[in-house]
Amino acid sequence: MISGELLEKIVYTSFRRAWEEDRGGFPPPSDIVYVTEITQCLRKSWYRRTLAEPPSDNKVVLMVMGDGAHFLLKESFPLGAGEELVEREYEGVKIRGRVDRLLEDSLIEFKTVSRIPKQPYDSHVAQSQLYMWLFNKPKAYIVYVSRSDGRVKAYEIARDEEAIASLLQRVKKFSDALKKGAIPEPEQSKLCEYCEYLNICSAREETNGKDTSATESS
Ligand code: SF4
Repeated sequence: MISGELLEKIVYTSFRRAWEEDRGGFPPPSDIVYVTEITQCLRKSWYRRTLAEPPSDNKVVLMVMGDGAHFLLKESFPLGAGEELVEREYEGVKIRGRVDRLLEDSLIEFKTVSRIPKQPYDSHVAQSQLYMWLFNKPKAYIVYVSRSDGRVKAYEIARDEEAIASLLQRVKKFSDALKKGAIPEPEQSKLCEYCEYLNICSAREETNGKDTSATESS
């Protein structure tokens, strides 16, 4: 007979399956990097690859819920081709990324947020730039879906070659850090507060007294 406790375990397991299916085999070799690893703090991405500890059940639920629109619209969105995974090489490093929808001259990324931002988040714009490079498109749309009031807002993002060149440098930097076993510099931001590696990162001590303006933003 099913109990409340067993049911909770099954729900946690189902969330974990959805999350694992979405990210594929992990970790890949050091000459393969994912777009999402490049557009956040490189040190965090490095920790995530090297410290194989799986996230807690609660964290997995939050990650899947945080990506709700992406999961829910997978089957139901009527335009373009569904989720596509591609790989393209840059100076010996293979970059992998997957977009939610691919249209003839653009691509679409769905993002679930608590509140629609006044402008798209920098990390989402950076992801879109790398996706445009990967899929060879001149334009992208970031579509925010608010989980608090149900509003939807689409931002159009034009391709920016300068931004792409700088992101490709980050690709090299991250792959090199994995190959050499060197931990990337911390890239502190307000997101550090939510970082699961904050306790081991020692970002505060390392940047104490240093000019952090030199740190590349993710
Ligand atoms: S605490 Fe901040 S600087 Fe350190 S790994 Fe996490 S996001 Fe990066």
